[in-house]
Amino acid sequence: MDIKRVEEALRGVIHPVKEQDVISLNMIEDIKTEGGVIKFKLVFPSPDPLSSSVKKSCEKAILDAFPGENPVIRIMELVRERKITKRLNLELGQEQIADVGHIIAVSSTKGGVGKSTVAVNLAVALAREGFRVGLADADVYGPSVPKMTATEGEMPMVDNTSGQEIIVPVEKFGIKWMSIGYFVQPGQPLIWRGPMASNALKQMVLQVKWGELDFLLIDLPPGTGDIHISVVQDIPISGAIVVTTPQEVALADVEKGMNMFKNKDISKPVIGVVENMSWFTPAELPENKYYIFGKGGGQKLSEKFGIPLLAQIPIVLSIRENGDNGTPAAMKEGEGREAFRALAGKIIEIYR
Ligand code: ADP
Repeated sequence: MDIKRVEEALRGVIHPVKEQDVISLNMIEDIKTEGGVIKFKLVFPSPDPLSSSVKKSCEKAILDAFPGENPVIRIMELVRERKITKRLNLELGQEQIADVGHIIAVSSTKGGVGKSTVAVNLAVALAREGFRVGLADADVYGPSVPKMTATEGEMPMVDNTSGQEIIVPVEKFGIKWMSIGYFVQPGQPLIWRGPMASNALKQMVLQVKWGELDFLLIDLPPGTGDIHISVVQDIPISGAIVVTTPQEVALADVEKGMNMFKNKDISKPVIGVVENMSWFTPAELPENKYYIFGKGGGQKLSEKFGIPLLAQIPIVLSIRENGDNGTPAAMKEGEGREAFRALAGKIIEIYR
């Protein structure tokens, strides 16, 4: 019996909550076939109430794939938790993030460089590696997470049991999402300024029932104003990622952002630069790279500030299309997914 056929059959087994097949979720290991026996490991990243139903679906998929052959199926089920050790020092008002391992701010000084795209796809890529992930879309001026995850129209519930209003995040793809966009009508402009914006932004992080998470990502609004300063001061972020395009113009702005995090009142580590839209490779000329937005900007920035260049994400049509249709590119096979997987690997290395 062919291992490829077993794998092919398992691609048809979709985890009902994560909405992805067990192969793409990296849940299958060590497929072996001997005589009439098919063996493999079914790995869950955390205890899963659906484990026996997923196991049964795997058995059924294999039996259907080998009609008349009646293979003996031996599935070894195991839970391999990948919890990150906690390192947050909490203050009053930060109870909701008490069980969060690391908070990472995703920032950019300019709009339109792909900050939200990077944040959403990084969340998905980390979850695919088995980590528990949440994302707070604190981009008060242009919340894009509801659209990018096709969760527009969701109405998060409010939990009053503790006497304080705590918002319950929306769950999809096995990730917890919170966005200011869930609380405004689509198309309605957000005209918050100053303290109101920074309060709303802090609520998106501190008044949300996150529960246990390995990583909480915060999609910050673009820019480096007072709002950012108050937020990064009041939220115990472990580090910040700066997203940029390779253009010189963008770089001058990014430098400002970098200085914001390094400011003595803030002094949060910038863990690295993500260069987005680094090049374009047409499908029919896979060896060619066209540096549409310039070349080497991320590298220059990394050298100038002595921080790592974590990733270069190419311009990929499917990244834009999947962002628009609500299934992040990091969930689908292809160049986009590989780029975000590599980025997630770097983040995991830093915080392991
Ligand atoms: P920002 O959050 O910085 O304002 P977005 O993440 O909303 O930027 O991205 C702006 C637009 O660019 C979106 O339409 C998005 O789909 C697209 N985009 C971002 N990164 C890429 C990429 N690497 N390849 C193709 N399109 C991208």
